[in-house]
Amino acid sequence: MKKENKKEVKQTNEKREKISIVVPCYNEQESLPIFYEEITKIAKEMKEQDFEFLFVNDGSKDNTLKILKDLAKKDDRVRFISFSRNFGKEGGMYAGLENATGDYVAIMDADMQDPPEMVKTMYQDIKKEGYDCVALCSPNHRDYGLVRKFFTNCWYKLIGKISSTPQVPGARDFRLMKRKMVDAIVNMKEYNRYSKGIFSFVGFNTKWIEYETPERAAGTSKFNFWKLFKYALEGILAFSTTPLVMAAIIGLIFCLIAFIAIIVIIVKTLAFGDPVGGWPSLACMIMFVSGVQLFFLGVFGMYMSKLYLEVKKRPIYIASETEKDVKEEKHD
Ligand code: UDP
Ligand code: MG
Repeated sequence: MKKENKKEVKQTNEKREKISIVVPCYNEQESLPIFYEEITKIAKEMKEQDFEFLFVNDGSKDNTLKILKDLAKKDDRVRFISFSRNFGKEGGMYAGLENATGDYVAIMDADMQDPPEMVKTMYQDIKKEGYDCVALCSPNHRDYGLVRKFFTNCWYKLIGKISSTPQVPGARDFRLMKRKMVDAIVNMKEYNRYSKGIFSFVGFNTKWIEYETPERAAGTSKFNFWKLFKYALEGILAFSTTPLVMAAIIGLIFCLIAFIAIIVIIVKTLAFGDPVGGWPSLACMIMFVSGVQLFFLGVFGMYMSKLYLEVKKRPIYIASETEKDVKEEKHD
């Protein structure tokens, strides 16, 4: 009888699936306790699944690490990786995906802009509808002002035209993925990471759910206009080589125009004389052409700089502490 019971327990254990929740955190001391409370509520409701909460402390300067250590001490499901400095959200997401052990992995922001209750719906969609990934998009980000919305829309139109990797407008990083998709992403070890492009590049059957991003629970956004501009540029450089092709085509067009202009000037000078007339227009043309040359030299430079960093093979992140340090301390 006892033996049978044991067998039953073993069988149910085998069936249990594990969901890892990866949370990159940078100065999130106010949001973290709220997030932890909400996500554990969801974990409690999803009784059939096991959970792992993997927080990545991206070199925070506030009490984020202390909060994470306290959480790891009291809850065995809590894990964390603490970086030696700020590596950016991309590094945080990579570290989380690389170290997560779940059958399913979700990436979520710590500020409650990615509502924890959505994890339930996402998991059900994957299970019932057979998707490999359920992702959220928020085309009308509430926090964005008119100027930021305008530039974001322009950027999505541009990347849609110049890149063969499709980008869903307003795509967030918030998504739940099957293990096979996570493995594919972790295998892309490029240093200059643009995860929204990488998610799309690896493919897999993805369901998109549209939603309105709620307000931040606490704290402020870590992405100002300049940081977002650099991120958008990263997206173009990582997933499109069209600017390089454009440089070649524009160069060719200018050569053609110059060739025609030379013939016209020669013919005009032979027929009517006056070889020095029109110098101002010449000066303008020289300035314009050298401007175009300089611009494309800059474009080449940007691709070159990315190549330079890629060749160096620097690590995407450096961890200084993990939950193991805290849990060992607890057992000593
Ligand atoms: N984040 C990070 N490293 C950074 C910047 C941000 O790990 O260098 C985290 C941040 O703590 C949050 C998530 O990335 O959990 C999204 O950041 P934020 O809410 O500032 O971005 P927004 O929602 O305004 O685009
Ligand atoms: Mg946010």
